Amino acid sequence: MSEFDVIVAGAGLGGLSTGALLASKGFRVLVVEESGHIGGRAHVSERDGFVLDWGLHMIRFCEQGPAAKVFERIGKPLSFYYSGHVMYFDGRKTGKLPVHGHDILLTPMMSLRSKAEFLERMTRLVFHSPESLDATTVEEWFGSRRLERRDFGQFVRALVFCSLIGTDLSRLSMGELSRFMRKTLLARHRGGYPVGGWQNVLESLEATVRSRGKIMTGCGVEAIEVDGGSATGFIAAGKKLSARVFVFTAPVGLLPPLLQAGSLSDREAGVAGDLEPTTGISIEAALDSEVIGSRDLFVVGQPLSVGMFPSNFEPAVAPPGKQLLNWYIPLSSEDLASSTGRQEAIDGLWSALEVMFPGIGGKILWKRVLRHAVVDGFVPVVGQAVRDRIGPRLSRIDNLFLAGDTVGVPGVGGDVAFGSALECAGLVEEYLSSR
Ligand SMILES: Cc1cc2nc3c(=O)[nH]c(=O)nc-3n(C[C@H](O)[C@H](O)[C@H](O)COP(=O)(O)OP(=O)(O)OC[C@H]3O[C@@H](n4cnc5c(N)ncnc54)[C@H](O)[C@@H]3O)c2cc1C
Repeated sequence: MSEFDVIVAGAGLGGLSTGALLASKGFRVLVVEESGHIGGRAHVSERDGFVLDWGLHMIRFCEQGPAAKVFERIGKPLSFYYSGHVMYFDGRKTGKLPVHGHDILLTPMMSLRSKAEFLERMTRLVFHSPESLDATTVEEWFGSRRLERRDFGQFVRALVFCSLIGTDLSRLSMGELSRFMRKTLLARHRGGYPVGGWQNVLESLEATVRSRGKIMTGCGVEAIEVDGGSATGFIAAGKKLSARVFVFTAPVGLLPPLLQAGSLSDREAGVAGDLEPTTGISIEAALDSEVIGSRDLFVVGQPLSVGMFPSNFEPAVAPPGKQLLNWYIPLSSEDLASSTGRQEAIDGLWSALEVMFPGIGGKILWKRVLRHAVVDGFVPVVGQAVRDRIGPRLSRIDNLFLAGDTVGVPGVGGDVAFGSALECAGLVEEYLSSR
């Protein structure tokens, strides 16, 4: 008999959450991770007393989101510092980006005509299920002529960006936006930062996994053996690791090369191979004193980007009196690959920040710029909406499940990583208890 009930490949948010949920139910879990550290795209490091996330990381919907549910289930409730307003910088001044009807009516960002047209489009969403809009683009829904109008286009672009973290309105799915808007309307808090920072999130998950199992880093799965419709082992570090159930949590595009041809259906293989992630750069700056004390999120119109000050949420992530800034700029994969494309975006951002926070340039102790070939596991464009993706269950292998932020559960990024872990752990538990 194997030492483990379940082996999970990947120790990112998806893998650690799945492992922790199953360990908290009493299953013996092994998590194997290819890299030398846990956390995946949400890992944490330290420099000169600053605790650095792997780029800007917020949690959508706080207590009402899937991260909170994971922690509730493992018996370690997560607390949040709530974010304030979303502030929009249009190149000259910063103002509040309205999210709800009342604020939209009062905003100086749009003309009366644009406000009326925007609210009419939003009201019409009530008559359409998100599923019926999955194949409609945001541009089709709002109308390209309207989006060409400066105030209307600027507002919708900013709103869509801080909802879906997507930029191309001619491809983004209105169904995905509609799901997000429905949650926003019911949300007590749009987003927040975990108390104790992401280090606390990772440590809590890690401790729960270790309470009933093991985590092995530097141990990548090189192949998955399948026999008669069931997985029989992960091949890692030259050894076959056996268990009753296997969970794969790395981006799903990495799965097909690990399996023999024919193990996935044509649809699963096609979706896995073609899924397009979001790409961009993040910029962190350690500041020798505070430039602003708020917990607002800041959206810059040009280059379209979002930022915040993590140390205004969790003071422990910066030494006393110092401040940490974290900004994310989405870039196409072409611009990400080009040093000119990256530099233009970075220069544009710093020009904007100098206007938004006068004197910020003189306060910088150091900066870190990271290139991300994968930010969120998929861009929520038409063809990649929740029902177009695959998992947590596969059609041809009964005991291999998927979790992680490419899986077909609602949300984007971390919501999908945590949400898929909840679904996946439920299916694994059902599978193990039925045999
Ligand atoms: C800059 C940036 C900003 C972000 N901001 C936010 C945000 O504000 N809010 C939000 O919700 N989300 C955000 N995200 C997305 C979020 O980080 C991801 O959705 C989440 O971390 C994905 O977790 P995961 O477990 O699905 O995948 P990963 O983090 O990619 O974990 C997969 C793990 O599997 C390992 N692995 C790969 N192949 C193998 C193998 N063969 N065997 C074993 N292990 C393997 C990898 O090394 C990795 O550790 C952001 C991401 C980035 C990069």
